[in-house]
Amino acid sequence: MEKNPAEAAHADTQPQVTPETKVGEIMTRNVLTTKADQAVVDIVQLMAKSRITGLPVVDDNNRLIGVVSESDIIGKAGDTVGDIMTHGSWTVGEETPLGEAAELLLRRRIRRLPVIRGDNELVGLVSRSDLISFFASHVWTCSWCGKGYRGFYAPSACNNCGGETFTIKVPDVI
Ligand SMILES: [Zn+2]
Repeated sequence: MEKNPAEAAHADTQPQVTPETKVGEIMTRNVLTTKADQAVVDIVQLMAKSRITGLPVVDDNNRLIGVVSESDIIGKAGDTVGDIMTHGSWTVGEETPLGEAAELLLRRRIRRLPVIRGDNELVGLVSRSDLISFFASHVWTCSWCGKGYRGFYAPSACNNCGGETFTIKVPDVI
């Protein structure tokens, strides 16, 4: 069976995700966004229909100005997105390593990170679910005793034998 070039390239770039993989390689590009003057009732519909829990808020030039999340909707009164949105946001760039983005997501207890370019232009979104396959499939293996550890970075030392060198194993099939 012949593969067309686009499919072949896709297959080649899919599996090998590492902490050094750039955010730009795995981010979601077609991001649903909202604007400050949009009615809250409209985005509630949109979020329910799309099963998402937050939306980046952009201006007319697609520049990120903030985010609006479920907790903004539940916890604040207002008619428009601008009334209830959270101004500003943690962001990453396309060149940010995935390990760094994951740490930010975990440490700040946030579900998604807008990806921006240049002057705050929104170009994508990276979410926890984008990283789940990495967490699920990468095992750091102690070179001394063979004990396995999951996570974005190798442990500093093996708690079983004190070993300090690890190899990363990625199963062929995810
Ligand atoms: Zn060990």
